[in-house]
Amino acid sequence: MTVLLCACCSGLNYQECCAPYHRNIINPETPEQLMRSRYSAYVLFLIDYLIQTTHPAKRHLHAKKDIAHWAKRSVWLKLEVCTAYNEMVEFKAYYQNGLKTIIHHELSTFKKQHGIWYYFSGEHIGL
Ligand SMILES: [Zn+2]
Repeated sequence: MTVLLCACCSGLNYQECCAPYHRNIINPETPEQLMRSRYSAYVLFLIDYLIQTTHPAKRHLHAKKDIAHWAKRSVWLKLEVCTAYNEMVEFKAYYQNGLKTIIHHELSTFKKQHGIWYYFSGEHIGL
């Protein structure tokens, strides 16, 4: 069997990493797992997963077509999780847009509702 490394850069096989989340078999147990699975969902163009894992109170801020547009025009290079603590995850997502490599540096907040973690909001960290 071929081993397909997960796009979230965990170093794990996709089947043992984000696939069970993407297939709704299990829910991520920590904000970091959720964050990683959302990054790999961008890479794999799983837009419904991105909507589904956005907190219900915040979904109206994220139009499906905008997410799809951003996911599609970006070439995702890698993910680095800087720190993860409590409800927060700080990460850098590297992607290419045209000829430019862009580092999206964000401090994300996640919230748990009925035992499930959701992406709540994100704050860009400036250069
Ligand atoms: Zn993964």
